[in-house]
Amino acid sequence: MTDTRSSAPDGAPTARPVDDATTLRAHVERQFPALQADLERLVRIPSVSAAAFDQAHVAASADAVAALLRGAGLPDVRILRSDRPDGTPGAPAVVARRPAPEGAPTVLLYAHHDVQPPGDAAAWATDPFEPVQVGDRLYGRGAADDKAGLVAHVGALRALAALAEDGGADLPVGITVFVEGEEESGSPSFRRFLADHRELLAADVIVVADSTNWKVGVPALTTSLRGLVDGVVEVEVLGHAVHSGMFGGPVLDANTLLARLVATLHDDAGNVAVAGLVSAPEPEVDYDEAAFRADASVLDGVALAGEGTIAGRLWAKPALSVIGIDATSVAHASNTIAPRAAAKLSLRIPPGQDPQAAEDALRAHLEAHAPFGARVTWRPGEQGRAFHAADDSAAMRAARSAFAAAWGTDPVDIGVGGSIPFIADLLEFFPDAAVLVTGVEDPDSRAHGADESVHLGELRKVVLAEALLLRRVGAGEG
Ligand SMILES: [Zn+2]
Repeated sequence: MTDTRSSAPDGAPTARPVDDATTLRAHVERQFPALQADLERLVRIPSVSAAAFDQAHVAASADAVAALLRGAGLPDVRILRSDRPDGTPGAPAVVARRPAPEGAPTVLLYAHHDVQPPGDAAAWATDPFEPVQVGDRLYGRGAADDKAGLVAHVGALRALAALAEDGGADLPVGITVFVEGEEESGSPSFRRFLADHRELLAADVIVVADSTNWKVGVPALTTSLRGLVDGVVEVEVLGHAVHSGMFGGPVLDANTLLARLVATLHDDAGNVAVAGLVSAPEPEVDYDEAAFRADASVLDGVALAGEGTIAGRLWAKPALSVIGIDATSVAHASNTIAPRAAAKLSLRIPPGQDPQAAEDALRAHLEAHAPFGARVTWRPGEQGRAFHAADDSAAMRAARSAFAAAWGTDPVDIGVGGSIPFIADLLEFFPDAAVLVTGVEDPDSRAHGADESVHLGELRKVVLAEALLLRRVGAGEG
């Protein structure tokens, strides 16, 4: 599949100028050491967007990204911020453009330059902000998510520029690179940013390089993403704490009542038991159970929860987790009956599920199951919509053929259990754009976790695939 020539009936090879895959592959190979060095420089900037971290690093990261994009042949590079809903300025985003020739399409290439907090440094084998290559993998916070997505865009543009210098045609497509600075903090200024810069960002095809491939050696297009609803449920049972010996027995403590309430959220098989939530159709590919157990580090002897295929449970059904509990800590425990306790609930919703309807169903379930008539209150948190790609768009076909050429094997359509809520925002602002969700990760990348890494062989293929995709869109295939 990597051959770019097809044989004419008389056996003479016929060049297919639209592909140039062999030439582009050679350029990607030759340029890759410099691209890897750029990725390593970015990883050394601890651009954690979470508020508790020094935001000067996020600003430095935006500057570094702007310099990279300028070097990639984009003449118009800007660092921009929009306000968050609370009126504070958002993190710096970088927008770099080369306008489309008359009548040609524009492709928006998205990535984010901020990263998750490193978490417990002791859990990392090496310093999270000092990139280290071990075998085929480069380790470091952001090495995959999503600084690799960013350098994939840069690498594709560099390879295409080299192709043009070789005498190949210039890319007949406009390019806008949009590198966000607060994706890992929930993109709070994203909608405002789209509204403020709608014209600057308008595109026919949007490539979001922030997801994963199926596994090393097998590319994927992410065609569905779950959405998210979260909030805090509080259980109150007493006006104030009382002695657990003097009063214990006739009244249960709030921690116990909260546990009983939380226990109603799943049935005995582990399926979400909230009435009224919808599921999407079962996916075409499945996630091997042994691989899932290994990837998620499920301990031996622990049974998996829920019913149906593993991929269906991850992508097509709701999932409900308790992600935090406010209760007296063990260290501060005293012999009292707790008057109140609270839990933060995180509900992942499949494509087809309206977030507000899901939240209403969850809230109704919690209120209907108030144990012993305890006072149950719900404080809403975030909402993010799910995503399902349009089936079989021209851009999708162009991406599939580019991926097949780069990997030598056809891509699979996957869902992702996680959420990228801004994709729904992009579609709302640019309803006619085709959105392609591509990725640099593989199941071993451990994005957000300790020992995050990118597979460098795969990253080369991602760069080549994106260069080919841009050629194909430019040739009218997108
Ligand atoms: Zn990401």
